[in-house]
Amino acid sequence: MATKQREAKLLPEVLEFLTQPKRLLIGGEWVEAASGQTFATIDPATDEEICQVPLAGAEDVDRAVSAAREAFEDGRWSQIDPRKRAKVLYAIADALEQKAQTIAQIDTIDNGKPVGFAFGEAIHSAQVYRYFAGWCDKVYGETNPTAPQTFIYTLREPVGVCGQIIPWNFPSAMAAWKVAPALAFGNCTVLKPAEETPLSALFLGQIAQEAGLPDGVLNILTGDGENTGAPLAAHPGLDKIAFTGSTEVGRKILQASSISLARVTLELGGKSPNIVFPDADLSQAVPQSAFGIFFNSGQVCTAGSRLLVDKRVHDQFVEQMTAAAQGWKVGDGLEDGTMVGPLVSRQQLDRVTNYLAIGPSEGAQVATGGKRVEGTKGYFVEPTVFTGVKPDMRIAQEEIFGPVLSVMSFEDTDEAIRMANDTMYGLASAVWTKDLQTAHKVARGIRAGTVWVNTYGPSDPGASFGGFKASGIGRELGVHALDAYTEVKTVWMSL
Ligand code: NDP
Repeated sequence: MATKQREAKLLPEVLEFLTQPKRLLIGGEWVEAASGQTFATIDPATDEEICQVPLAGAEDVDRAVSAAREAFEDGRWSQIDPRKRAKVLYAIADALEQKAQTIAQIDTIDNGKPVGFAFGEAIHSAQVYRYFAGWCDKVYGETNPTAPQTFIYTLREPVGVCGQIIPWNFPSAMAAWKVAPALAFGNCTVLKPAEETPLSALFLGQIAQEAGLPDGVLNILTGDGENTGAPLAAHPGLDKIAFTGSTEVGRKILQASSISLARVTLELGGKSPNIVFPDADLSQAVPQSAFGIFFNSGQVCTAGSRLLVDKRVHDQFVEQMTAAAQGWKVGDGLEDGTMVGPLVSRQQLDRVTNYLAIGPSEGAQVATGGKRVEGTKGYFVEPTVFTGVKPDMRIAQEEIFGPVLSVMSFEDTDEAIRMANDTMYGLASAVWTKDLQTAHKVARGIRAGTVWVNTYGPSDPGASFGGFKASGIGRELGVHALDAYTEVKTVWMSL
């Protein structure tokens, strides 16, 4: 449990939730792990234990997949009137919205993020459920061109039982991105939240039950990658695996799926270019570029971590960006005014501070930041801007996943596009210019799943999201979620 001082800031409902014993949700029952093992979830602002959570193992994975299979096969969810499914999803959306303050505080103490941003995430999650609730009764097949004696049409059917493994950077939103479309299209699922942030997923389980979701349709297993994630990904009973996380683990998931031949969607890392042309409106480009890298302490797969600036505005932009970075207040996510919370874990702190050392050792200059925040046990790092970065440096190529910006300059549009594409990733990108031709040329030229023009980072349930190259396979959200969570069946009828 959080320290007394922090407890005083928490809502009664949050305190009540935290003191309840934590259980796995399997087949509609809240149960302990078969092994009886638990692990501590840690408050990254204080380095203290919040509570113990069950460590699910292979036996629990088996039970959860069987429960989802039973629920799927008997049609309690997959074969009901889709409007009844929609009703449950709308009820989940309403509850998430009503309890957004509670969810925000839970995510703040589990993840570290500022509570205002966590609140926005909870509201976004509600919007995702609402968006997909609207899809339930709009799943159309097609009629195909046929010969006179034949009638061919297609049906879209649920894929079946899903294993969904999510990361810690957006605990509520990532759960929504996975669970909402799976349920809308009639699937049953086993969700594994990250070991760093298991709490809001368990809270979601309570909400889903209260909203009337039938038993076994959503199962939730807390645990780590080795004991829980790996057996889930390799389980032969899965029809579909959805994963968000590192490219390294994404590769393991793909290998594991060869056992079940489950359909796989992967949302992986990024090293997204944010390109500023000399005609850009800097009064917008600077603050939004700062948001693009410092929001969520830089722990965002789409973080604009490579800033490519036309050399004519480079110095001016760096000066303004440095001032903007210094305005992002670092602190406890429960404190008013905090913009940058702690990193999620000691592991991430070590990873990011290692890159803070690599930058200067490769010859980059520190324009601002560059250090861990001293005098606290929390995992706080200063918002950092590196200048003088060259495209082949590690800080220009590798995903740091912290509030660390690498600034490079370019001569012309072609060079900007070349530099933008010069990584193994292809998740997101942005271009700042008033010139339409430049905007469209760059949008075409960049190999990434998202291009923002004169903005950085917005997300919408209706906007499909995913990566090119090592940033993933498949798309989530929007109309393309249909491909991720349905199978196409072709029916031939002889006339
Ligand atoms: P991981 O890829 O290890 O974690 C993502 C999820 O996968 C977690 O639920 C994790 O479980 C689970 N997992 C880990 N190993 C396995 C496995 N063998 N089989 C199945 N599931 C597994 O990310 P990390 O937390 O280790 O972060 C490392 C780096 O990954 C970050 O610094 C960042 O670069 C990148 N990352 C990218 C994200 C994105 O949004 N694209 C999100 C998070 C990280 P558990 O956490 O419980 O061990």
